[in-house]
Amino acid sequence: MRALVFDGAVRLTEEWAEPQLMPGWAVVRVGLCGVCRTDLEIAQGYMGYRGAMGHEFVGVVEQCEDADWIGKRVVGEINAACGDCDWCRRGLQRHCPGRTVLGIVSHDGCMAERCALPVENLHEVPEGMADEQAVFCEPVSAGFEMLEQVDVARKDRCIVLGDGKLGILCSWALATASSDVTLCGHHPHKLTVADWGGVRSQMGSDSITDCADIVVEATGSVSGLAEALRLCKPRGVLILKSTIAADSALNLAPLVVNEITVVGSRCGPFGRGLREMATHRFPVERLITARYDLSQGLQAFQRARQRDALKVLVRCS
Ligand SMILES: [Zn+2]
Ligand SMILES: [Zn+2]
Repeated sequence: MRALVFDGAVRLTEEWAEPQLMPGWAVVRVGLCGVCRTDLEIAQGYMGYRGAMGHEFVGVVEQCEDADWIGKRVVGEINAACGDCDWCRRGLQRHCPGRTVLGIVSHDGCMAERCALPVENLHEVPEGMADEQAVFCEPVSAGFEMLEQVDVARKDRCIVLGDGKLGILCSWALATASSDVTLCGHHPHKLTVADWGGVRSQMGSDSITDCADIVVEATGSVSGLAEALRLCKPRGVLILKSTIAADSALNLAPLVVNEITVVGSRCGPFGRGLREMATHRFPVERLITARYDLSQGLQAFQRARQRDALKVLVRCS
């Protein structure tokens, strides 16, 4: 089948092996998928991954032992757990040490005509939700993971640093719980896109002196993390949404002095993500920068790398 793969370089192939149907799994014909920052990192060789790329998709179940699933339009959680370790038994499959991750760890991804996932990972997409909305389920759920981890009150002052896709979606998720959300970024166009649900946006954060109860770091830079620390009130919560790969020193003393709680936050539950999207009708279509066919996968990656880009979509079938 056709697939966009990484094997030291990103390339398009017509000869990728079809996924095999395993017991308890489903094979999904991929409709639309999204290019994520993680995919760009994989394409740089950062994560040691080899295989078909991509983890954000919406598609239709083509093969499954349970015939009820066949023909259903679905999105899929990306962690495939062993089902049998202590973490899995506690319902924390996303932390299973033996897990594979779609398009990220030892598991062929969705930038292909088909991909495979355990049935328990699948969520049916509500009828009224277009593919171009449903494909945002993974990053929207990642935004709501913060609300699974931290209690956010209406009056809590929240600041999100970073006006990329994830920063914008995090600000929208917070705006469903708090009436005081500010997004700080460096791209006027992206800050305009973020205007929803009372979210205020501003260029940079240097001018902010009124510190926040909750600060979200979504810039992916060490300087962003230092700024997030500065903006967090004593006894506040600092939520880290981006994996910061850097070895430069950071002064952690303010964490201790101000008794700040640091929360690392990654993928979220898709059930909630879909429900929140259906309820709040986030204008995710504003985040779409460009659309490509799978045959133009390399161009899609080039476009996604440009600084002004938000979400680039790839049509796989
Ligand atoms: Zn993603
Ligand atoms: Zn496990």
